[in-house]
Amino acid sequence: MIRVGINGYGTIGKRVAEAIALQDDMKVVGVVKTRPNYEALSALKKGFDIYIPREKEKEFIDKGVGFKGFIEDLLEKIDIVIDATPGGVGAKYKSIYEKYGLKMIFQGGEKAAVADLSFNSFVNYEKALGARSVRVVSCNTTGLVRVLWVLSRINEIESVRAVIIRRGADPKEIDRGPINSLVLDPPSVPSHHALDVKTVLGDIDIETVAIASPTTLMHMHVLNVRMRNNVSKEEIIEAFSRTPRIILVDSSRTGIKSSSEVIELARDLGRKRYDVYENVIFKDTIYVKGREVIFVQAIHQEAIVTPENIDAIRALSLIEKDPWRSIEKTDKSLGILSGEIR
Ligand code: NAD
Repeated sequence: MIRVGINGYGTIGKRVAEAIALQDDMKVVGVVKTRPNYEALSALKKGFDIYIPREKEKEFIDKGVGFKGFIEDLLEKIDIVIDATPGGVGAKYKSIYEKYGLKMIFQGGEKAAVADLSFNSFVNYEKALGARSVRVVSCNTTGLVRVLWVLSRINEIESVRAVIIRRGADPKEIDRGPINSLVLDPPSVPSHHALDVKTVLGDIDIETVAIASPTTLMHMHVLNVRMRNNVSKEEIIEAFSRTPRIILVDSSRTGIKSSSEVIELARDLGRKRYDVYENVIFKDTIYVKGREVIFVQAIHQEAIVTPENIDAIRALSLIEKDPWRSIEKTDKSLGILSGEIR
């Protein structure tokens, strides 16, 4: 049983903690909270032990929020740390984790250099076997990498041009926007996403444009991929249909043509927090003309990296050497779907 600690119990940390609790080959030893807020209370209600920075002891005691020990106590008891602190903070913790001889899983807000490898389950699980550290790439990068990996198995990719209409904030982020604007993010090309995709897929020809929009629900990607040779729409649909963590939505049949309706479906299906772990490809947008492939997909930023974190634990700890067995186990535990939504 691999013992895992979560440092940073926010949007990503809480989802990964709950996903670990569903596995039979790993367990959550504790989570780090820096503030005695509602997320600390919910962690306790879920049965996770809380560890805190030593200097926060009085604050937690004054607020009456129980804790099991200090961060160092947790680091002593675990094999792997999931760092889900805000972007850039993980790098500051790295030397502390190393002092405790831990394997480390960082998130996409860190620079690629923080870890041995930028990780995606489809692409480089085997390279991550036994590694000291990986960085699970961001939500947008994970969404792009999954589909580009599928296309690259059909035919060589010549170039990728993608527009990312990204959510302005997560639902809980009361201080972020935009509220009434579409903001070029950044006002230049490429956005950092193209560079980040290369940390996983190598030196492919990819350029991205990103625009922040006033929604909290999902990102939307418009991809234009040029293949080396002609491909057919049928083979693209077939390849997406048989890949885990990718679902196809037929808008003309289901009526789904927006991120809101994808989220509503997730609610109707009883998904916790309406989490959508899958790339949601709008089937009717798949357009193939010779070597050119166009399609639109929706990506739920809060959820999509959860399964990748679980697979990364298995790869680093060597408890499962076969990527597809780990992916299958993770997906079964989280109820992750594939194929066409019918
Ligand atoms: P978040 O702000 O929701 O959570 C971060 C948590 O870390 C908070 O609970 C915060 O209190 C805690 N924290 C802050 N400073 C800390 C410290 N010094 N020590 C320990 N804990 C500390 O952030 P998030 O959205 O979960 O993002 C975490 C990481 O995941 C980032 O690298 C981010 O880029 C990445 N990521 C975020 C998303 C997303 O859409 N939210 C998607 C994919 C990847």
